[in-house]
Amino acid sequence: MLIAIGRLAATLWLAVMIVSPAPAETVGRDIMVATRILPPLVIEKDGALTGFSIELWNAIAARLKLKVDYRPAPNVGALLEEVRSNRTEIGVAAISITSVREVEFEFSQPILNAGLQIMIRGGGRDGDSNPLSDILGLLFSKTSLVWLGVALLLILIPAHIIWFLERRQDSGIIPSDKYIPGIFYGMYWSAATLATQAENQPRQWLARVVALFWMFTGIVFVALYTAQLAATLTVQQIQGGINGPDDLVGRKVATTKGSTAAAALRELRAQVTEVSRIEDAYQALHDREVDAVVFDSPVLLYYAANEGKGRAYMVGGQFRKEDYGIVFRPGNPLRRQVNATLLQLREDGTYQQIYDRWFGGK
Ligand code: GLU
Repeated sequence: MLIAIGRLAATLWLAVMIVSPAPAETVGRDIMVATRILPPLVIEKDGALTGFSIELWNAIAARLKLKVDYRPAPNVGALLEEVRSNRTEIGVAAISITSVREVEFEFSQPILNAGLQIMIRGGGRDGDSNPLSDILGLLFSKTSLVWLGVALLLILIPAHIIWFLERRQDSGIIPSDKYIPGIFYGMYWSAATLATQAENQPRQWLARVVALFWMFTGIVFVALYTAQLAATLTVQQIQGGINGPDDLVGRKVATTKGSTAAAALRELRAQVTEVSRIEDAYQALHDREVDAVVFDSPVLLYYAANEGKGRAYMVGGQFRKEDYGIVFRPGNPLRRQVNATLLQLREDGTYQQIYDRWFGGK
């Protein structure tokens, strides 16, 4: 009898153990959390971490009585590797919930709605184009300077011929038979003819033949230069026109390494530059190394409204919706508790407070 009771008690104890994972294991202990600096989700300030995701996780951890130890990773791939390899238990930053990641990991309920968006250089639609700076830019463009150089060289040849043939002509176009200043008259005439604007023509017969030939050269030169300017302008106008993801084909675009944005950009056949820190993508945009930055909208919107104000702006809406989640290795019982706490935080307004602190209007 005693033995039977003993067995029953043992079986019951086992059943209880299996059905409810011991809360003592998940609550009131230390937890290693992989994260990554990505304002405004994760910000490093005076050696401490803050930001939306950090504040949210700290609130969850406080309710679950977990002591948090953060380990920052350089990019999202490295962050996931921390969790995969068990160096940290979970990951919290701006981690998009995707079908590919869901195969290997488990995610919490979404902690923030996000999605991919495009940011380009400039002060916004209105401040973008200024005709005066457009003209100056065109005049001093590399193409124009090359053409000017070629023209200068070309001018020297007829200038010398005309000077030589015309220098002894009375009332000709070269009033001095000395090389200086005679050659300057020759050069002035040569330049004016090239621009099809010459006032006088030479008298000497061979000089007239040369002049005729040079006038034709001038017509061809002006026609080619005009065509070149028109082509440059057209390219500039086409390049200015990033309005949506379809305009990114073949364009240089920066984003972060291993991100969902990098994968989406490769699908769109853009030329992708992948950097670890999102700040390096912003810098590449300002340095004109890329035409756009494509990344998570909460991150870009925060930048465009703060540090990047007047220098970068968003075009189009989110073109791919993604949600952020907290990432776990499969089978971690903590996930259920985190989800329950997340719902509590939404219900009692704590989530909204944290949200407003980072994304609310000023
Ligand atoms: N939401 C992006 C992703 O999960 C963030 C990438 C990053 O942290 O740079 O792919």
